[in-house]
Amino acid sequence: MISIYEESLAISPYRAWMALNVPSDPMSVLAQCTHYVPMMANEFPELKVVKGVVSSVKNLDNISETIHKEYPHMWLVSPTGEIIDPTVRQFCNLGPLDYRAFPDDATSCNKCINCGRYFTSNKFYPMCSNECAEEFG
Ligand SMILES: [Zn+2]
Repeated sequence: MISIYEESLAISPYRAWMALNVPSDPMSVLAQCTHYVPMMANEFPELKVVKGVVSSVKNLDNISETIHKEYPHMWLVSPTGEIIDPTVRQFCNLGPLDYRAFPDDATSCNKCINCGRYFTSNKFYPMCSNECAEEFG
């Protein structure tokens, strides 16, 4: 008989690698995505490194009804499109996560002074959009 744990290791070499190399303690992986993601990409060249932001789908950190707090983050995507996130445990209090990738050529990560969302370079800096630029005045 095979345990669920062993079964998942058999299915995913990524899960197996994470179980062996990434601490399971949420505090140990806090802000460590830039350490573990390149390490994992080095081990599995087929994985694509993605930079962007994550937020709580259920808005459990509840800044407001409409604005979800976002966290700059780095993760990997498998050739089949599966999100591989070795340091996801740092967000364990947020429930399901929404992953918003920045464009591949993004060179910056700015925080909008109106709505608080993160964005890459644009002509509305230091706001994220025309709407925020108008709202901020
Ligand atoms: Zn904004």
